[in-house]
Amino acid sequence: MREENCIFCKIANGEIPSRTIYEDEEFRVILDLNPATKGHALILPKNHYKNLYELSDETAQKILPLAKKMGMLITQRLGCEGLNLLQNNNEIAGQTIFHFHVHLIPRYQNDHQNLIMNPLELSSAELDAVRDELLQ
Ligand code: 5GP
Ligand code: ZN
Repeated sequence: MREENCIFCKIANGEIPSRTIYEDEEFRVILDLNPATKGHALILPKNHYKNLYELSDETAQKILPLAKKMGMLITQRLGCEGLNLLQNNNEIAGQTIFHFHVHLIPRYQNDHQNLIMNPLELSSAELDAVRDELLQ
């Protein structure tokens, strides 16, 4: 399941070289070419899924155990103090490569990254309305 002209299909399947830190039959984990911090890595499924909406459940259930394993390894080897998992879907959310991937971003003191969000201030009634919109 590959997509023509998808750079992450080519990287995941070894057609384009990458700095691979883990590989198995279904996944390749590589260093990001333009890292946010030292050790910033990407988990790529070898099959092509455009985003979370298209990801198979079978692949989805293997992602978090792999993220945990790689997160532990990165933390032990590089001595970061924490880690962000980030996964963007669609342009509005900052996705630039349309082959599903998960970012592992190690965090260090003074790493000059700001992945904290700006919280909205919603009233209790507004929060209730959102919950009601989502409840089936
Ligand atoms: P997105 O914005 O789609 O969530 O993340 C795409 C990520 O892929 C970016 O962090 C970007 O630096 C990285 N990236 C883009 N092209 C390449 C590439 O050819 N090789 C590697 N290793 N990373 C890439
Ligand atoms: Zn692809």
